[in-house]
Amino acid sequence: MMAAVLMVAAIVAIQSYTLWQARQDTWTNAVRGADNVLTTLVAAIERNLTLIEVSLAGVQEGLRHTEIQFVSPELRNLILFDRATAAEHVDAVLVLSPRGDIVFDSRSPVPRSGNFSDRDFFRAQRDRDVGTFLGKPSDAGLEPGIWQTTFSRRLTNPDGSFGGVVAASLRSSYFDELFSALDLGPGSILTLMRTDGTVVERRPTAEPNHGAGVPVAGNEVFQAIAAGRSSGFTAVSMYEQKEKYFLYKRIPGFPLVLIISIPIETVLKPWRMQAIVVGLLTVCVGGLILFLVAVVQRALIRSFSMADRLKLAASTDFLTGLTNRRDFDRYLAVELQRAARDGSFLSLVMVDADRFKLVNDRHGHLVGDELLREIATSIRRSLLRPGDLASRYGGEEFAIVLPVTDSAGARVIAERIRKVVEATSVPLPDGSRLSATVSVGGVTAVVGAGARVETLVRRADEALYMAKGRGRNCAVLLEGLGADSRVTSMQTLLYV
Ligand code: GH3
Ligand code: MG
Ligand code: MG
Repeated sequence: MMAAVLMVAAIVAIQSYTLWQARQDTWTNAVRGADNVLTTLVAAIERNLTLIEVSLAGVQEGLRHTEIQFVSPELRNLILFDRATAAEHVDAVLVLSPRGDIVFDSRSPVPRSGNFSDRDFFRAQRDRDVGTFLGKPSDAGLEPGIWQTTFSRRLTNPDGSFGGVVAASLRSSYFDELFSALDLGPGSILTLMRTDGTVVERRPTAEPNHGAGVPVAGNEVFQAIAAGRSSGFTAVSMYEQKEKYFLYKRIPGFPLVLIISIPIETVLKPWRMQAIVVGLLTVCVGGLILFLVAVVQRALIRSFSMADRLKLAASTDFLTGLTNRRDFDRYLAVELQRAARDGSFLSLVMVDADRFKLVNDRHGHLVGDELLREIATSIRRSLLRPGDLASRYGGEEFAIVLPVTDSAGARVIAERIRKVVEATSVPLPDGSRLSATVSVGGVTAVVGAGARVETLVRRADEALYMAKGRGRNCAVLLEGLGADSRVTSMQTLLYV
């Protein structure tokens, strides 16, 4: 069972580790994918914005040449706006006068009419040169009615005074096309935002104009980015009110940040399903293993105890509960060998109920059986050492093996048995009690290597015969194996 528990624990540990690895892989892949999207988009946006900036700078450069005002409008447009059409989703590049009126128009040699003096991209440049300025997304840029982000650069007169601006509007459709071309995975949202906290484009979103112009400066994500927290942080999404993972990159050279938010729950959902299935299966398999092992263990224990009981039954005498003759023979043979090897004393004592035939004849076999049981109990009670073994030799005869017991010890045991039996009795139907006596014969010897069980038993029998001859209810003990050729001691002791 311990092994099974350890095995199940190992299976659970391995599965947990595998699942943990799978979770790490799922998450790492999601983050890597999002990061790749960011890198690709930032590179594309940077390239397009740089083209716009370069075309504005080209107009600025061209206007420094005063000769430009002397050439035909067509040639002037060719010179000023030769790079203006390279950027995607930019319709027109306009040169505006210090009062905000259109002076030159990339789309036609004869400029359209229009005034942009109130726009942020114009006003920002009026007082000082701020480089390339990015206006807030609005539908009131150079192409009114279309959502766009307008870029402007200052035109400065040789005397340092304000000479107007050159401006180009990037239609929001640019970002729409760019963002929609990428599969972000469910729940991920892309947000392009000005560093002052104004959304330029968000996708996907339900907001009008893809969130263009929405101020987000107050929210947690913006503040984390503004505070310089490195890309890859967890925060509560401003739109969904739930924890998401945020990655962001700045567009180099422009006050823009591209953010991607990853829904942690959604990304890990397939993994969670897998974890639940694998977890349940593991629990089932583990439970099944433990159950089967428990069942097998119970069956084994039962069969072992059954075998033990059978073994005990096979070696026990049914009537008295003592060891039976079969086990006695085996035990005596083993102890004989041990005694021969160790050179120790071995004693064998035979006990025979006196005139037992008479008991049966007078009181019946049931009383006889009862008396035999009493004698067996008396013998058992007289033995104290764990190595001493009493057995029913047959009929009303008992044999006791006393390993490592010399003649003095055997004598004590023999006499104790005789006395205890003498003191016990069984009740008779008429209310009186019936007691019995036993005759005891024993032998003690230091046996040689070739000594035989039969020799020892015969010697004990001889002693028992002598005890019967001396009038019963007495003990006779012999020392040594008598006339046997492998006798270790020739002494014979008679004891009454
Ligand atoms: P002694 O040994 O003193 O010479 O006389 P005894 O009457 O005991 O001698 P014997 O060996 O002739 O008789 C043994 C008797 O023991 C025979 C039988 O009636 C009785 N006996 C043997 N086994 C059992 C038993 O299992 N139950 C009962 N009730 N009697 C038994
Ligand atoms: Mg007998
Ligand atoms: Mg007898």
